[in-house]
Amino acid sequence: MELPVVNINSPVEAYEDPLDLMDEIESLKKERDASILAHFYVDGDLQDIADFTGDSLKLARDATQVKTSTIVFCGVHFMGESAKILSPEKKVLMPDLHAGCSLAESCPVDRLAAYQAELRAKGHDFQTVAYINTTAAVKSLCDWIVTSGNAREIIDRVPADKEILFVPDQHLGRYLSSVTGRPMILWPGSCMVHEVFSVQDLLRAKRNHPGSLVMSHPECPANILEVSDIIGGTEKMRKYVASVTEPKTFLVATEANMIHPLKKLAPQHEYIPVPGIMTSTGETCACNRCPHMALNTLQKVRDCLKYSRPEIVWQPYFSQAQEVLQRSLLQ
Ligand code: SF4
Repeated sequence: MELPVVNINSPVEAYEDPLDLMDEIESLKKERDASILAHFYVDGDLQDIADFTGDSLKLARDATQVKTSTIVFCGVHFMGESAKILSPEKKVLMPDLHAGCSLAESCPVDRLAAYQAELRAKGHDFQTVAYINTTAAVKSLCDWIVTSGNAREIIDRVPADKEILFVPDQHLGRYLSSVTGRPMILWPGSCMVHEVFSVQDLLRAKRNHPGSLVMSHPECPANILEVSDIIGGTEKMRKYVASVTEPKTFLVATEANMIHPLKKLAPQHEYIPVPGIMTSTGETCACNRCPHMALNTLQKVRDCLKYSRPEIVWQPYFSQAQEVLQRSLLQ
């Protein structure tokens, strides 16, 4: 059957009423036997219509528990790949296949393979630990996959007599090395969103909000982590704000959409996004949004359900990545 042409990457979408779109998505979900998984960094409307929300670790695990035959993954490409790899029998659709990740792209598979070979040739005896923000091809070259939620536990599983090559996030690797005491060879990658937080503006915001607490993602550079009161992935942030009953002000240094689930869970607090600096102009902006996550929209969710595409298709290297992902996230 000839499929209609769908321009999934149109930069401007004609306005459609979000409530109508949500109704349409709800009925298409039933028709297509689909569940929606949404990362905490996508728009709040998408989080609200999702069957599962969470960070990369939770969503990868949720994907294995989904009862429907189709998963619509609102997130970025490596997350859709992980869902397919862990649930190969499911059809995994993504609203926009072009939703990439600057961190994953900072570690291309051919460069990693060459670097591993170079280290081995120099006599290094190491295991490669990859943050989940990597392509499936990169995962297939690694020994372990970590998320910000399980990293310490996984690093403890690396034999003590092995060196650790940590890819791709240098900031997370440096932080993990400091909390675990394990020296690491760090890949020089970083996330464009977490890289741009302005420590001067953060300190100014702290002064302007006496008694506030700074909550940062470990993907942030060391100068931000040094002035943070709470350092953790998105699940840790959620648990922390829920555990504090007295109203507080939190200065949040991660993707600004994260404030949506925090507000829902613990509305007694005030949440202020930490400003970032536009590297091109040196100007500060009010918040930090991931441009890749922003490619997920209600219209595209509706369209991918309607036309059953674009789809993450099984690739030969997924088998090797599957072994590593299962060992690291499910066992
Ligand atoms: S926020 Fe950073 S790490 Fe997360 S998807 Fe966007 S670019 Fe990648």
